Amino acid sequence: MNNAEIAARDLNALWHPCTQMKDHEQLPLIPIRRGTGVWLEDFDGNRYIDAISSWWVNLFGHANPHISRRVNRQMQELEHVILAGFTHEAVVTLSEKLIALTPVGLTRCFYAENGSSAVEVALKMSFHYWKNQGHSGKCEFVNLSNSYHGETLGALSVGDVELYKHTYEPLLLKTRTVAAPDDYYREPGETRQDYAARRFAEMEATLERHGERICAVIVEPLVQCAGYMRMHHPEYLSWLRAACDRYQVHLIADECAVGFGRTGTLFACEQAGITPDFMCLAKGLTGGFLPLSAVLTNDDVYGAFYDDYESLRGFLHSHSYTGNPLACAAALGTLELFEQSDVLGRNRRLARAMADATAHFRDHPHVADVRQCGMILAIEMVKDKHTRESYPWRERRGLTVYRHGLENQALLRPLGNVVYFMPPYVINEQQINHLADVAWRGIQLATKD
Ligand SMILES: *Cc1c(COP(=O)(O)O)cnc(C)c1O
Repeated sequence: MNNAEIAARDLNALWHPCTQMKDHEQLPLIPIRRGTGVWLEDFDGNRYIDAISSWWVNLFGHANPHISRRVNRQMQELEHVILAGFTHEAVVTLSEKLIALTPVGLTRCFYAENGSSAVEVALKMSFHYWKNQGHSGKCEFVNLSNSYHGETLGALSVGDVELYKHTYEPLLLKTRTVAAPDDYYREPGETRQDYAARRFAEMEATLERHGERICAVIVEPLVQCAGYMRMHHPEYLSWLRAACDRYQVHLIADECAVGFGRTGTLFACEQAGITPDFMCLAKGLTGGFLPLSAVLTNDDVYGAFYDDYESLRGFLHSHSYTGNPLACAAALGTLELFEQSDVLGRNRRLARAMADATAHFRDHPHVADVRQCGMILAIEMVKDKHTRESYPWRERRGLTVYRHGLENQALLRPLGNVVYFMPPYVINEQQINHLADVAWRGIQLATKD
């Protein structure tokens, strides 16, 4: 079996996610035979460093032996059981651990199957909480510009990435969008913090004016990942937490992408010293092995649903594979790897290596910004470095970088004109340097005319 054979069969039977299938008339589809650590290997024997952790899910490498054993062991005992009326040890232990690890005050875990459904759960719980408390006028959500919270209709409604959202606009919930405190747009000489403060004034005004109708503000703490890896100062989140309390509005922290050590702390909210009312976790939760998500919330929210059945205050939401034991075992294996070694300490060294390897990108004539938050580093290609005019999206410059990566042992998958590294934590410095070299040459090719 080789790449061409599998790709041909695939293209006769599949419809791929986030893909214009016609692209594959020119763009090769890469069938992967196996993965080990940071490496993916295709059926022709080519190898690629997975610089994007396979859509940001992988933390400790492909086919990680510890997580793999954990899932295997679970599989011999119990593959799945309904989580209504029944429970199992893996989900209980996982819940205890998540409560212990997440910011103080989060005391309840509700499970779903992916990030989007976790966001749906948080939105529904927030709305339902206010209804149970007699605030039935609250039925809107506030989000930040350029945010991303998933693809199902509710999650899409509170996102703001035009490319994914525009077509479905008539189907979506009403959402108030406030300008994000995105560092990229600060004025020359303005500090990140001053810019965040300036942006926060708009959030404050929105909450003051419309708070009575607003259930929750939803944010991606520190990094808007799908929104081109744009970053903001943590202080914004502290101010937001205080304002949400002032105006009786929930704060939903969507840590689907930034949770589990990505930003330098186990959870991004820690850098702002805040506890959200809802925290959504997915992606890295299972180390990239199996789909699972969790929504953590507090006693106050839980208490507002706790009543006699006839009150009909219960949260009657479920997914078939809620709290699946195999996925929980993968999550436990992942958390054990955090316990067994100083992952965050090692990540600090790796993050420094990523910064060093890309420091010279700042001088590139078509790079406007090199930004980093822990194990996420992004390089923004622009047409004009001084005005920051972007390349028109139709030119698809990022695709040149993607192709160049594939020819040089690197899976780099730019978001538009933004090339980024978000590698598994088992990457080493030599591999980081290789990625930087490939990205540099890819950017040269992509920007040469
Ligand atoms: C990926 C992502 C989601 C959606 O998760 P899925 O598992 O893809 O449904 C939601 N929020 C954020 C911040 C994400 O990065």
